Amino acid sequence: MATLRVENLRKEYDRGSIVAVDGVDLEVNDGEFVTVVGPSGCGKTTTLRMIAGLEEPTGGTIHLGGTDVTDESAKTRDIAMVFQNYALYPHKTVYENMEFGLRMSTDLSKPEREEKVQWAAEMMDISELLEKKPDELSGGQKQRVALGRAIVREPEVFLFDEPLSNLDAKLRTSMRAEIQRLQDELGITSVYVTHDQEEAMTMGDKIVILNGGTLQQVGEPKAVYDEPANEFVAGFIGSPSMNFVDVTARSSGEGLVLTDGATFQYTLSPEYASGVAIEDGDSATLGIRPEDVHPADGGESIRTTVEVIEPIGSDNYLYLDVSEDFIARVRADYEPSVDQSIDITFDESKLRLFDAETGESLL
Ligand code: ATP
Repeated sequence: MATLRVENLRKEYDRGSIVAVDGVDLEVNDGEFVTVVGPSGCGKTTTLRMIAGLEEPTGGTIHLGGTDVTDESAKTRDIAMVFQNYALYPHKTVYENMEFGLRMSTDLSKPEREEKVQWAAEMMDISELLEKKPDELSGGQKQRVALGRAIVREPEVFLFDEPLSNLDAKLRTSMRAEIQRLQDELGITSVYVTHDQEEAMTMGDKIVILNGGTLQQVGEPKAVYDEPANEFVAGFIGSPSMNFVDVTARSSGEGLVLTDGATFQYTLSPEYASGVAIEDGDSATLGIRPEDVHPADGGESIRTTVEVIEPIGSDNYLYLDVSEDFIARVRADYEPSVDQSIDITFDESKLRLFDAETGESLL
């Protein structure tokens, strides 16, 4: 079983003045593909490098398959890492690049090593590149070689550090599918770091969101999308981002009303209000995703003005005068004009509320 368990992992630099990773817990089950995502500087790479054994933790433990490997060197951990810059040896051929790790870390015979390299090369569809040197390859080919070099060792764990960032958008999409295929076929426990939330969402069985060195949420992509634990996760996951409105709760005869003191005024149903930790006078941040904002057809609604219309083909993005960058994603056949007043509403079950101070979800 190649379960990876990270507990209370911490990394300080400059005698503690920089806390790059601040008490991260993470469990990756055998054969699971976990993506780690967060903004620049949130500690993704440092976390990965500590798991690989390339960086010494200031605190915490790393277990691999039940064994504590925290104090083991990178060489003795059965882990392969794939880097953004490929990290191929420029003077070695593709074959030699792939074989090198096997020579260093196993006592396989030459024919056995050759068999493994051929297998990995076929797996990555690079058999015809084996005699070439890295500088004769395109970026996509180099990354295939880097992947081939990682799988040839059949490690217990794969670590990927933004492996597709240097590729163009189209190649990135096809390589994503390729990596997923590999993972399906080999079933190797994997941790994949990216700053691209869409990549994290589409690739991960489970997604881990970091910010400022701390863990924000771990869960299946859909669960994280639908039920973000806090305002940071809500805003980071999803494109365009979730809309936010600063509101205050007011009790009225009709129930609990959320208002921004200006145009936004929305009365919560008693069922919804009973499930939220909010009462009269409390401030909160209301969140609603662009695709959950609809033109109103009677019922509870908010009047607003269309500021900008951005057609994206299948749909239109309407920028509305509700709060800064408030977007409704509507069907392309709904085309109000700029400056037109429209009434909008949303499915209450999609409404998120966050504590105005801490940003934690109130649902
Ligand atoms: P990016 O997406 O930009 O690569 P990241 O999430 O991978 O960012 P890390 O590279 O893990 O972030 O860095 C986390 C924090 O630790 C950053 O504030 C960074 O400046 C700091 N840091 C990383 N390595 C060192 C180091 N060797 N010395 C001092 N500070 C460091």
